[in-house]
Amino acid sequence: MSHYKPDHIISNGERFRVWLTEEEIRERTAEIGRELGRQFEGRRPIFIGVLNGAFIFLSDLMRHTPIPCEVDFIKLSSYGDEKVSSGQVTELKEIHADLAGRDVILVEDIVDTGLSISFLADKLSAMNPESLTLVTLLHKVSATTHPVTLDHVGFEIPDRFVLGYGLDYSQEGRNLAQIYIQEDA
Ligand code: 5GP
Repeated sequence: MSHYKPDHIISNGERFRVWLTEEEIRERTAEIGRELGRQFEGRRPIFIGVLNGAFIFLSDLMRHTPIPCEVDFIKLSSYGDEKVSSGQVTELKEIHADLAGRDVILVEDIVDTGLSISFLADKLSAMNPESLTLVTLLHKVSATTHPVTLDHVGFEIPDRFVLGYGLDYSQEGRNLAQIYIQEDA
């Protein structure tokens, strides 16, 4: 059973409440976009979005970054239909762009244990970019066991399951404009 109301939703029978509103997300995304614009003034960076979760954040972030830029995508194995990581990362879609000598901006939806982003940072660094900037919309700081230096973090959040604004629960909820957090059972 699933249904959506503005202040809470039920997804796959579980209840979530609003954690970040549309406006809070938009303001923070615009701020990061402006910072990236200043950081890469006179350059032409390439955004690499991590599918599927980052597609909405990435599209908003790019439109708030007021300089010429490019985009490509990479896809990793996901949580599947579960809410807990399998602890393994597999690549499902490769990057086609040549990243050698480029300013690369990696865009994640959420850093949880940090396993995915450290895997990606190692992989992209091996492609000899001029620079690598790590951006994530959300960071579950207390859950991160694979330490990695994040350059831009939208919001730090508690170690609880969230969905909306690109993030799913069992493929549901990506179209929600706000971010919702799971309520205590
Ligand atoms: P990590 O490798 O850092 O443990 O997990 C990163 C990936 O796990 C994210 O890109 C995302 O796909 C998924 N993930 C982690 N926490 C959540 C969450 O609270 N909600 C959703 N929908 N996905 C999550």
